[in-house]
Amino acid sequence: MKLVLLGPPGAGKGTQAETLIDRLKIPAISTGMLLRNAISNKTELGLKAKSFIDSGDLVPDELVVGLLRERLLEEDCQNGFILDGFPRTQAQAEMLDKICAIDKVLSIELADEKILQRLSGRRVCNGCGASYHTIFKPSKVDMICDSCGGGLTIRDDDKPETIKRRLSVYHEQTEPIKAYYKAQGKLCEAYGQEDVKDTTKEVLKALGLE
Ligand SMILES: [Zn+2]
Repeated sequence: MKLVLLGPPGAGKGTQAETLIDRLKIPAISTGMLLRNAISNKTELGLKAKSFIDSGDLVPDELVVGLLRERLLEEDCQNGFILDGFPRTQAQAEMLDKICAIDKVLSIELADEKILQRLSGRRVCNGCGASYHTIFKPSKVDMICDSCGGGLTIRDDDKPETIKRRLSVYHEQTEPIKAYYKAQGKLCEAYGQEDVKDTTKEVLKALGLE
């Protein structure tokens, strides 16, 4: 199955991707990882990408799609793959259509308030890196790590204003792609649940795997 995963940040795409990798025996591909690998391996496209990043520019879509095209030709992608984090815009979706025929697009839905609750409650230990959550996995003493006694911190990505900004970018730029894929008859939707296992059930049902 050639699958695209959509959904707002914090909806649990990464976790569900891991389940699907196991279940479908296909790799998950993130363009962020492709870029990092190409840059560290100093490939032709990697060096080009680096020159954009070094000058503070966004890496152009054509270059990212070029990397993706190379990756999708590799052996492990021949039975399918899961694309996570790409496409993020209509223009990218159209470019993707030119290099391969996607089978299904799964959108994992979760209300903004739930996402804010999930992400803004995260705490990470400065000392040992252990993770906590104010609601779902609280530390015994507020802002202190249970295992090493280090101080807990809120990552920049988990600050409410950052989350709100990422959500509004998602709603403005990425969410409209759903209509594009719906018109192609490829869109499936699953609703994020309190329990990860229940979300997985929704995901499998939406994809017709259960
Ligand atoms: Zn710690």
